[in-house]
Amino acid sequence: MPTPSAGPDGGSDALFGLDALEPPPPSAGPSFRDSDTARRLLPVREIHAEPAAAASARGRQIIARFPEARLIEVDSHWRVPGLHGNEGNVERWVRVKGETLVLGERKTLDTRPNGRSADWIAPGLSNGCALACAYCYVPRRKGYANPITVFTNVDRIIAHLGRHIARQGRKQEPNQCDPTAWVYDIGENGDCSVDALVCDNTADLVRAFRRWPTAKASFATKFVNPDLLALEPWGRTRIRFSLMPEADARLLDVRTSPVAARVAAAADFLDAGYEVHFNFSPVVLRPGWREAWGDLLRHLDDVLPERVKRQAAAEVIMLTHNQGLHEVNLGWHPRAEQVLWRPDLQQAKRSENGASNVRYRNAIKAEAVNALRELVGVHAPWLRIRYAF
Ligand code: SF4
Repeated sequence: MPTPSAGPDGGSDALFGLDALEPPPPSAGPSFRDSDTARRLLPVREIHAEPAAAASARGRQIIARFPEARLIEVDSHWRVPGLHGNEGNVERWVRVKGETLVLGERKTLDTRPNGRSADWIAPGLSNGCALACAYCYVPRRKGYANPITVFTNVDRIIAHLGRHIARQGRKQEPNQCDPTAWVYDIGENGDCSVDALVCDNTADLVRAFRRWPTAKASFATKFVNPDLLALEPWGRTRIRFSLMPEADARLLDVRTSPVAARVAAAADFLDAGYEVHFNFSPVVLRPGWREAWGDLLRHLDDVLPERVKRQAAAEVIMLTHNQGLHEVNLGWHPRAEQVLWRPDLQQAKRSENGASNVRYRNAIKAEAVNALRELVGVHAPWLRIRYAF
């Protein structure tokens, strides 16, 4: 049986307003997002909305879903006074992630080339997350509270994607992203499974990709949302369950579904019409990491049915950390920093947007990537590694 995810103190998630995120089986009846478990994760009390977003069909749907929430008008979803930035303490930040939503319209519609997790990074339908992984890069631009901002101009974003896909034509050369389809990452700045607790944005994207035979949607997730099983993706959406050893996840993956639950969900998602891959990310180097990853890989080998193994692939991404995030985390989750901030192993890396990031030193990282590849070869030889860096 999966065990509940623990908080950073290794105990309960009481600090984070959540006892356990154990989703019911998919056949449990009414939608999961109306369940007590989902309501505990997202007990929305405030909705900050741009006027046009509040007036849109999607905005009205969301506001109606949370009738007790206070509606607050804002000029821009990028600047919500008292919400973004790093003021306040962690209890407030983590509470904010569940109790607050922001509604806005996405103004910039850029689809960027990628070549790693996907061929293209699509303009997502959200920015921010109700989960609170200690290493998460998503909040860097808004400050670490960064709850979900839902973009309500869904039709415009989907129309943009349709035009982009049409311009590409058929994929001529297979690559590691996919042999035949152009792969679009639809969840760069959030978790689509969590977004689906709020509204139908994720469902709209999954359904849109059904109509595009030359393309495939893809998103990584740390949350098992059984509602997605009903979306009938017809093989045009790849879900990538993010995995790390359970002990690391208990420390670092705050508010997420337990790792064992993510693994256990793989067959259900495959049977529901998804392609199911795995995202080994981030790989955190700490004493005993090789043994812990070996255990996880053996677990995958033991419990995944052959039909999941046959189509599975994985990406491996070593931890990148950030000076600002390190300082924030010291204030609320210093135990996480004992494993995330390792100057003895890491080197500075200036990111494209000028942020002070750190990553494992070249030689250490190369050795760790090789070690993980070898572990996969020994314990899960059926698992193709799409890329590792
Ligand atoms: S699930 Fe993803 S987007 Fe959400 S907090 Fe964790 S790493 Fe960030």
